[in-house]
Amino acid sequence: MLDAVIVGAGFAGMYMLHKLRALGLTARVFEAGTGVGGTWYWNRYPGARCDVESMDYSYSFSDELQQEWRWTERYAAQPEILKYANHVADRFDLRRDIQLETRVTRAVFDETTSRWDVETDRGDRVSARFCVMATGCLSDAQVPDFEGLDSFEGTWYHTGRWPHQGVDFTGRRVGVIGTGSSAIQSIPIIAKQARHLYVFQRTPNYSMPAQNAPLDAEYERRVKAAYADFRRQARESRVGFVTERSGDSALAVPAAEREREYEKRWSRGGLGFSAAYADLLMSKDANDTAADFFRAKIRAIVRDPAVADLLCPTSYPLGTKRLCVDTGYYATFNLDNVTLVDVRKQPIEVITPKGVRTGGVEYAVDDLVFATGFDAMTGALLNIDIRGRGGRRLDAEWAGGPRTYLGLTVEGFPNLFLITGPGSPSVLSNMIVSIEQHVDWIADCMSHLRARDLATIEATLEAQEAWVQHVNEVGHMTLYPLAPSWYMGANIPGKPRVFMPYIGGVGVYRQKCDEVAAKDYEGFALR
Ligand SMILES: Cc1cc2nc3c(=O)[nH]c(=O)nc-3n(C[C@H](O)[C@H](O)[C@H](O)COP(=O)(O)OP(=O)(O)OC[C@H]3O[C@@H](n4cnc5c(N)ncnc54)[C@H](O)[C@@H]3O)c2cc1C
Repeated sequence: MLDAVIVGAGFAGMYMLHKLRALGLTARVFEAGTGVGGTWYWNRYPGARCDVESMDYSYSFSDELQQEWRWTERYAAQPEILKYANHVADRFDLRRDIQLETRVTRAVFDETTSRWDVETDRGDRVSARFCVMATGCLSDAQVPDFEGLDSFEGTWYHTGRWPHQGVDFTGRRVGVIGTGSSAIQSIPIIAKQARHLYVFQRTPNYSMPAQNAPLDAEYERRVKAAYADFRRQARESRVGFVTERSGDSALAVPAAEREREYEKRWSRGGLGFSAAYADLLMSKDANDTAADFFRAKIRAIVRDPAVADLLCPTSYPLGTKRLCVDTGYYATFNLDNVTLVDVRKQPIEVITPKGVRTGGVEYAVDDLVFATGFDAMTGALLNIDIRGRGGRRLDAEWAGGPRTYLGLTVEGFPNLFLITGPGSPSVLSNMIVSIEQHVDWIADCMSHLRARDLATIEATLEAQEAWVQHVNEVGHMTLYPLAPSWYMGANIPGKPRVFMPYIGGVGVYRQKCDEVAAKDYEGFALR
């Protein structure tokens, strides 16, 4: 008889396990992969790295860990982050409660026992008081349903399911489908290996130079000397890391000054660009000034004006699809062995045995790379048959889009917790900060139930409705809903178009969650 089942052994599941053990609770983690690390276990494509700086994108719960661990680069690459995840698993002796190569298929709340019955694809059946979904916002990799893919005679890959032994594209003709974050990271590297690289682009993205470099030892020393304060500021910030944030309107400053500011941020690199002015994500006119700056940069880097034109995003405001961070992405299109193919005007018709046909032209390739992303935020959850009170099914409850209270819980599903669920800042933040906040809140909640001898906690319908409305209202005050992004579910045919994450800010959100707990779990029914 377990206290808790945790689904997923990425950063969320691992910390949840550690935290529950500290409370003296028994827990088992089920993980579909053959190892821990989640995102960093699966996404082994060339160039995969974090785009939140490593000194920020790491756990803060153990001071020994954060003092001892040494990142080698400003933005660590996937192998180093995976090594870190494994180090954490060993250091905190997590593995003995993690069952790998096991996918949870079903979780049913039994009203007679007030427990969750959880089933796996390996035939396990376990009963637990709590069920914690640490299934990941970006873990359900999507390959579009292209006609003819079965007939393709070459090899195809998805960036989010990359072979562990790596792939050598030397001398090969390669097609990359998609131009989001993963594509933008991998294309410069694949281009260096491939005989020819075709990039099939539907929507161009805004990408910032990473200006990645070996981690500056002096910076590391300074951060480590004041890590507690550095982390506190991150927790109270808007996005979970501290960045120079202006309170001014982009339209209130002279054009030349604005240009200098954008230039400064461009040469600094990374995700801080959108914080240059307070209204970049609120006002289309303000946003246009930044988008124009980006387009001018692209035109200055890319020599062929027609290719540069295609690479310039024009159909949505900057930052409303996830801003990408790259190393040499735009310049890659100056190489003779790289061809950009516009599949906006002429969509991919069919995958043929020899390659990709679009606009009546067949592009012959040996390998195809799908950098086509994920069924974000809800995909991994809804792959599990989750049933709450009275057999209510989560997929039916969410048919019109996800509905949660605080992105942590769902009405009708007692003692079920979502880590970085829809309706929380999750993908709009440094996710490790958001993960730690959720795990801490959930653990406190379980302690509270134990101290009061309570069996269940469940969101009330009123509280959930009010939260969903708040998340929507705040989202619609911004420019985000203007972009057909994966935040909106727009990359998945038939998925409801709902702006899923909470944009109120990491610090504000944390305060709201803390207030709910302080008011004896306001908005929840405790039984
Ligand atoms: C390429 C890439 C780069 C990223 N870079 C950043 C970044 O720089 N900064 C940032 O903040 N975030 C980044 N992210 C987001 C990243 O997903 C989070 O930062 C974080 O790693 C999520 O941890 P998690 O434990 O919540 O989920 P995940 O790491 O996705 O782990 C979830 C785990 O659950 C398992 N699982 C799912 N369903 C089941 C099931 N039914 N049964 C058993 N196991 C299951 C999966 O196999 C997976 O291992 C990036 C994401 C990607 C894809």
